Amino acid sequence: MEYKTSQENGLKKKHNAMKVLIAEDDLISCKALEKSIKEWGYKVVVARDGEEAWQIAKKDKIHLAILDWMMPGMNGVELSRKIRQEYQDKKSKYVYIILLTGRDKQDDIIQGLSTGADDYMTKPFSFQELKVRLQNGERIIKLEEERIKLASYDSLTKIWNHNKILEFLGEELERGKRDNQSTGVIMADIDYFKQINDSYGHLVGDSVLIEVASRLEKTLRTYDKIGRYGGDKIGRYGGDEMLVVIPNCNEVNVKQIGERLCLSVSQDEVYTEAGDLKVTISLGCASSETYLNASGKYLVQVSDKALYLAKKEGRNRIVLANSPKQNE
Ligand code: GH3
Ligand code: MG
Repeated sequence: MEYKTSQENGLKKKHNAMKVLIAEDDLISCKALEKSIKEWGYKVVVARDGEEAWQIAKKDKIHLAILDWMMPGMNGVELSRKIRQEYQDKKSKYVYIILLTGRDKQDDIIQGLSTGADDYMTKPFSFQELKVRLQNGERIIKLEEERIKLASYDSLTKIWNHNKILEFLGEELERGKRDNQSTGVIMADIDYFKQINDSYGHLVGDSVLIEVASRLEKTLRTYDKIGRYGGDKIGRYGGDEMLVVIPNCNEVNVKQIGERLCLSVSQDEVYTEAGDLKVTISLGCASSETYLNASGKYLVQVSDKALYLAKKEGRNRIVLANSPKQNE
């Protein structure tokens, strides 16, 4: 059971609202909780036993969970342990867990919290108190989301950073193997970037980096919209080098996308404080179609070598790494 918005009830919009899972087997308590929590502006999803709640927690991207301790099948304590384990093993999103129970002995509280629950309320409880505790949880989730964002993005260009794009490449290769799809990799590097820094200063250099990253990202997004490939990602590999990872992408596709990226930088001058500058990039690309079972590291290596050739052959161009021999 899921309640997407409460607009039909004339309540405030919930587009960016956090999603709360209520796991409670008692129908009356469950309905009362659901009604109040929706009125407080959250999206709500309800489960009537532990197993159903676990299935929802695994696939439903919930932010907060209110788990009744006593439930048929899997109880709230086991469920909270499983949710925490999933967070550790699969780096899934953090869920803020509030346990509800009739037990109020100190030992119970210690046991409940030691499974990884964040908070604990003893029945009967005040709904006003629950509301405040949910708000506390919301604050923790927002901090966690901010922490993940800071750990994943490059602060200058706002695209993913080195570690995050490599992590994505690894995941995509694994997924591609399972689904029998190739993954495309493009290494892009600004031409004569040092000269831009030397002639106009680092701040102008920074603004060129930002604009190039933004043009590449926008071009990839256009592909996403067309739905031809989808899910493409870009990250700053280091200095003026950017790495693009393209799911479901063979040799022909990767070269086509690379050509579009190359053009997106060269076709219009980049506006800077020092005037409009002509900027170009060189690209090296590869697809796992050519290098079956190659690791992410290897695909980056061959793309980097192809990039080196693109520089050598005159820059503002793309070279496809398509022969294992070329990389020996
Ligand atoms: P090539 O065409 O062969 O790529 O020549 P290049 O001048 O671009 O040479 P290279 O890629 O080796 O130079 C990268 C330069 O990027 C060197 C470094 O000072 C500069 N750089 C790295 N990070 C930043 C940054 O965050 N901001 C600015 N402004 N410059 C940076
Ligand atoms: Mg360069």
